[in-house]
Amino acid sequence: MKSLNQLTIKQASQLLAKKEITSVALTEACLKRIKEIDGKIKACLTVCEKEALAEAKKADERRAAGESGDLLGIPYFAKDNILTRGIKTTAASKILANYIAPYDATIIKKLKQAGAVLLGKTNLDEFAHGSSTENSAFGPTHNPWDLTRVPGGSSGGSAAAVASDMCLFALGTDTCGSIRYPAGFCGIVGLKPTYGRSSRFGLIAMTSSTDVPGPLAKTVEDAAIVLSVIAGVDENDATTVNQPHPNPLLSKERVNLKSMTIGLPKEYFTAGTDQGVTQAIEQAVATLKKLGVKFKSVSLPHTKYAIPVYYIITPSEISSNLARFDGIKYGLSAAPSLTSPARTSRERGNDLMSVYTRSRGKGFGPEAKRRIMLGTYALSAGYYDAYYLQAQKVRTQIKQEMDKVLQEVDCLLTPTAPHVAFKIGAPQSADPLKMYLEDIFMAGASLSGLPAMSIPCGFDNGLPVGMQLIGRRFDEAMLFRVGWAYEATTRWHLEKPGI
Ligand code: GLN
Repeated sequence: MKSLNQLTIKQASQLLAKKEITSVALTEACLKRIKEIDGKIKACLTVCEKEALAEAKKADERRAAGESGDLLGIPYFAKDNILTRGIKTTAASKILANYIAPYDATIIKKLKQAGAVLLGKTNLDEFAHGSSTENSAFGPTHNPWDLTRVPGGSSGGSAAAVASDMCLFALGTDTCGSIRYPAGFCGIVGLKPTYGRSSRFGLIAMTSSTDVPGPLAKTVEDAAIVLSVIAGVDENDATTVNQPHPNPLLSKERVNLKSMTIGLPKEYFTAGTDQGVTQAIEQAVATLKKLGVKFKSVSLPHTKYAIPVYYIITPSEISSNLARFDGIKYGLSAAPSLTSPARTSRERGNDLMSVYTRSRGKGFGPEAKRRIMLGTYALSAGYYDAYYLQAQKVRTQIKQEMDKVLQEVDCLLTPTAPHVAFKIGAPQSADPLKMYLEDIFMAGASLSGLPAMSIPCGFDNGLPVGMQLIGRRFDEAMLFRVGWAYEATTRWHLEKPGI
């Protein structure tokens, strides 16, 4: 018999509807699991036990009063760069170590209305800059499949929490892979919705032109359920679009995959990918072929520019977005010494510039500082045209190329990452450029704003391998259909780490 925290959203909501379990019992099971294993995994930055139990009780009362809903009473975690009213939001940065937001992000508000139960906040790379959670100011999260390895990032805490059954689902943000990549490393489903599908209001902004929040879940169907609740136009985010919501039920229909053609972009099948990963992907392609899917080799020649373009655009937007953390408006303020014998405020260091530099110097970690410097450089007069503007032009070409190929095929299939989870402290951890290259299969969909999902598709040396599906703009339903059909004939998503 499974313990309650191991259930999927779908299973739990059916039991809740039949009154066979309560949300309080479900929440208690998650809290117990967190206490048992988070000392080793370190996925959580905040656990709000009292509030969660109160919300669970409320959800049970709502059900008793006749309300229903797939997420009513379902416990979840939110990545700690998503604002939660009254509960700390740190972005895993010292500069926000004690920050408590005065309002909820739109997606948190929607989940609250749906009756989901917030268990707490999960670890990430500081401000979501990274791919391993090693950039967190509060220490790395450990991969539940092998505690000596990273869970991926930047939503590594969310991925590890779902993979180890501390919750039923978690929220992440994906700017260039931060949902899909850790989902792949942890053997779960991670969906980056279309840019504009889910509101960015209340996310701590990283790269505003690619940031998008989405679910990390145990199954494709669960991801679809969460998306259907968090999606939608929001008057507080002008980039959200009024498009019909994907119907989670679509993922239940075993659609006829025979009419479907999936593209295999040859630039994503390169020599640098580990053999075990390539084999798992080939096996997944063979499985889908058996279900009737046709495959077609396609080419995206601009793929080689995606990383350089992203790493011009992302620091540029970051340098602007992080300007607000100045030691005055938000968070940590490095106050001058009051006992200083200096006479002028400049000498004492309490003039405005000194407060800025000292607070930012103390508050930001090395990666945030690196990106602020790179971005400020790329945007400065004389360099703007050569770097930022040029990158934006190439970005448009990447986007047009992907849109065009997606007219020929229904979606694309690629590996999520070139290898499985690496060791904490591995060579890429010490070399920013190597770490940036980890985003190799992530950048195309992010720069183009397309929906993409990572699904478990096998193991290499006992560690999970993910495959990525990239869809047409606002066609998450296609990803759900392929993903669900694949999941229904495989068992990868049912494998659990032995922790
Ligand atoms: N690896 C990407 C980066 O460091 C991840 C960003 C993200 O999706 N938040 O920029």
